[in-house]
Amino acid sequence: MTDFIRTRQAFHLPEGVTYLDGNSLGPMPVAAKERVSRMMAEEWSEMLITGWNRAGWYVQPRKVGDRIARLIGAGSGEVVMGDTLSIKVFQAVSAARALRPERRVILSDNGNFPSDLYVAEGLARAVDAELRVVAPEEVEHAIDDQLAVLMITEVDYRTGRRHDMKALTARAHQVGALTVWDLAHSAGAVDVDLTGADADFAVGCTYKYLNGGPGAPAFIWTHPRHADAAQPILQGWMGHAAPFAFDLGYTPAPGIERMRVGTPPVIAMTALDAALDIWDGVELADLRARSVELTEAFIAGVEANCPGVTLNSPRDPDMRGSQVSFRHPQGYAVMQALIAEGVIGDFRAPDVLRFGFAPLYNDLQDVQRAVDILARILREETWDQPHFHEKADVT
Ligand SMILES: *Cc1c(COP(=O)(O)O)cnc(C)c1O
Repeated sequence: MTDFIRTRQAFHLPEGVTYLDGNSLGPMPVAAKERVSRMMAEEWSEMLITGWNRAGWYVQPRKVGDRIARLIGAGSGEVVMGDTLSIKVFQAVSAARALRPERRVILSDNGNFPSDLYVAEGLARAVDAELRVVAPEEVEHAIDDQLAVLMITEVDYRTGRRHDMKALTARAHQVGALTVWDLAHSAGAVDVDLTGADADFAVGCTYKYLNGGPGAPAFIWTHPRHADAAQPILQGWMGHAAPFAFDLGYTPAPGIERMRVGTPPVIAMTALDAALDIWDGVELADLRARSVELTEAFIAGVEANCPGVTLNSPRDPDMRGSQVSFRHPQGYAVMQALIAEGVIGDFRAPDVLRFGFAPLYNDLQDVQRAVDILARILREETWDQPHFHEKADVT
């Protein structure tokens, strides 16, 4: 059994705060601070450039990738770190399309995060492909033999709706297409099994449920059957077979290493590595069970006590990731009032109150406190004050 008391204690959670926004930015692991200071004091400062070899900075993207592999049902040597998720989406979709050059269509859905759609739109323009975007419920029907790449974010960032990775992958394979799964709201949140689903490519960020810190590097996975065939369209020197030969022409490194682009963010990855220590001993089945318990309790509590909100997430936990959202016509102001009382969730336009439940550090007391405070704010309409209506830069 996973010890969730230990995992909760591994985070710095500010006094008086109930944090339900780990789906946007996970809290700081206590050990990250010390680990990064040590890296600065012992590695960067003393080793200087020799740190690439002596401290293992050069191989860190693959070593950290191996730690993430376990959390997404991938094998060792199949995941590499670097860049941001938007870049990794570009790499995965472009590589998948290049493996199906005779087909033009990239299919996604309108529950996807806009950055993924923007990236695919730009790629489609550059390589004469076509991006088709349908409603999430229409994806299965829209898969036909013109399809090159199915690009889907498994868990919808607003509603928490979870696609059936295995079924959609099987359907795409039936028509000869490849799949790219974005795990931004899945990795560290639900029981992902890329190998079991027989997916082709996957990408994700590490600053949400994996708690790597703001700007932590993204990951990319390629199924071993494609790893030596996938052409990394974004060809950088760190993905070259021999980066330090400084050849003028590009030869891709074997396997997943070719998805590296440039110099990795060593300091950020050190913080992420400390965050991944917390996952040692966490079983994905336990993670999933606790996530369902927390989200079910929150939905039941809000529906019984909070007037004026409507559930915006699937009611069936099998159809949901680890987040729950509700709609309220004054959603923005309601969320600002909640944050002022120490319950941090977030707002997504036009009227969505979004709450992420991270099994590693959220518990049933967090659920209870969030329900109680939300109920009071809505009953007493304390959200209706001018300062709660002012929009900030980042919402
Ligand atoms: C959070 C998120 C992103 C963000 O991409 P960055 O390049 O890391 O800013 C992209 N796609 C999805 C699906 C996300 O949830």
